[in-house]
Amino acid sequence: MTYRSIAMDGPSGAGKSTLARALAARLGFLYVDTGAIYRTVGLYTARQGGDCGRKEDVVSRLPELRLSLAYGEDGLQHMFLQGEDVTEAIRDNAVSRYASQVSAYPEVRAFLLEMQRELARTHNVIMDGRDIGTVVLPQADLKVFLTASVEERARRRWAELAARGQEVDLDTVREEIARRDYDDTHRAAAPLRKAADAVEVDTSHLNFQESLDALLALVKERLSL
Ligand code: C5P
Repeated sequence: MTYRSIAMDGPSGAGKSTLARALAARLGFLYVDTGAIYRTVGLYTARQGGDCGRKEDVVSRLPELRLSLAYGEDGLQHMFLQGEDVTEAIRDNAVSRYASQVSAYPEVRAFLLEMQRELARTHNVIMDGRDIGTVVLPQADLKVFLTASVEERARRRWAELAARGQEVDLDTVREEIARRDYDDTHRAAAPLRKAADAVEVDTSHLNFQESLDALLALVKERLSL
């Protein structure tokens, strides 16, 4: 059986995970959040007392890392680290920064590549990340590059953190988003960029339903679903 795949890339806070999850539920596809995998590597390094900004601290620990991904009955992706469910722990604001740091190391990217491709070989997937259309699934049936203005993305991230009880001021969130954008687009290893054949969808002025409708229209057209 041939499986279908949809690559969803773009900067932090453009709405990738919420939209990809909703789209996956509509289509019956598996939603794979690859950012969660990088977050787990960052969390592990930090928990072991390592500095994610030091490549050696991260790379030397990869062989001992036991990472796995499982899907609950709710269809949601859970991340396991050394057997512990860290799905909630990796959403901590500090872990966003660790993930961005560890994801800049080519050794980390190479280490995680096969895990991601294997999921697409064995399931219909919607995979969200930064390099899915360019590196992980260059043959994806549909590639979407989801964007939104920095201001709008900062506002959304802030609201998401507030809903989780994490009080951070909006300026700080905006600075963090701008910094992560810079790091993600300027790194040497798999920088964030739109694949030549990706369709750009700007959600700055679209609400959730409008964004989802735009994506469903693309899926219908490209995957004949
Ligand atoms: O998507 P999320 O914000 O959870 O990703 C956390 C970080 O992981 C990003 O800032 C990015 O640096 C990195 N990442 C990546 N490649 C991916 C997914 C995430 O480099 N495919």
